[in-house]
Amino acid sequence: MKTGVLALQGSFFDHVKSLELIDKEYQLIKSVSDLDNIDSLILPGGESTTMMKIQKNDDLFESIKIKINEGMPTLGTCAGLILLANDVIDGQSSISCLNTVVERNAYGRQNESFEGLVDFNGNKEMYCFIRAPKIISYAQTVTPIALIDEEVVGIHENNIVGLSFHPELSNDIIYLEWLKNFLKDGLNVRSL
Ligand code: GLN
Repeated sequence: MKTGVLALQGSFFDHVKSLELIDKEYQLIKSVSDLDNIDSLILPGGESTTMMKIQKNDDLFESIKIKINEGMPTLGTCAGLILLANDVIDGQSSISCLNTVVERNAYGRQNESFEGLVDFNGNKEMYCFIRAPKIISYAQTVTPIALIDEEVVGIHENNIVGLSFHPELSNDIIYLEWLKNFLKDGLNVRSL
């Protein structure tokens, strides 16, 4: 089985590179029919509003939501986190299956993008934040799994993980190992 990578727009190819590094086959997801042979899913960074517009006529997000609710391990980074969030400040909810409130572009404009030392999966690594969303709040069913200073920048609920940063641009060994286990075993993803 393959990992589906949403490929409407944005940095999906960087996630493909991560999957190649862990020898996981992948399927680019552009329409509902691409969802047939996947066992896990990645929603990349990019521009969430554009992704919402592109998929509208195909009802792709409705079909993705069904797969996620059935328990498919799903990772969303940056715009991917926005697509997953139940509530979006300065934006719109879409797939809406992760019990969190996020605020789009809350760290500032494109030129205020930054790199920061993130504690993720028990490991400290420099990761990029590119016009990232902020995780404002989350339900009790959600576990924080990534922190920058005291701020939560990654969360996990059941089979879903949302990160406001881009580990796929670093592809450090510990991230790749985590990714491999998560995609195989999303319900049991390790938390901090
Ligand atoms: N600012 C983008 C959005 O609102 C997200 C940026 C990213 O994915 N790097 O969708």
